[in-house]
Amino acid sequence: MSIDDKLGTLKFTTNEEKSHIIINEDFTDEKEIMRIVKACPAELYKYENGKLVFSHEGCLECGTCRVLSHGKVIKSWEYPESGYGVEFHQG
Ligand code: SF4
Repeated sequence: MSIDDKLGTLKFTTNEEKSHIIINEDFTDEKEIMRIVKACPAELYKYENGKLVFSHEGCLECGTCRVLSHGKVIKSWEYPESGYGVEFHQG
């Protein structure tokens, strides 16, 4: 089974009203931003026209962006509230 096939088995329940990750929209260091854009396995970060764009829908909750942000690109990172987020299927 390919990685794309495995990702297709995941179930997401998205909180449309609240993102569990808040980015710092005023942060402009392109090098720091691109590190996160390239690292997110779900490709949820885009850098368009000098601006970071983020959508939390489809987040795998891996924490990679949180670790790489060093408190700069991301203002806050929390797991989604109970009942929301990704559901992994084992086996
Ligand atoms: Fe992407 Fe992982 Fe950050 Fe979610 S937690 S936005 S999947 S890097």
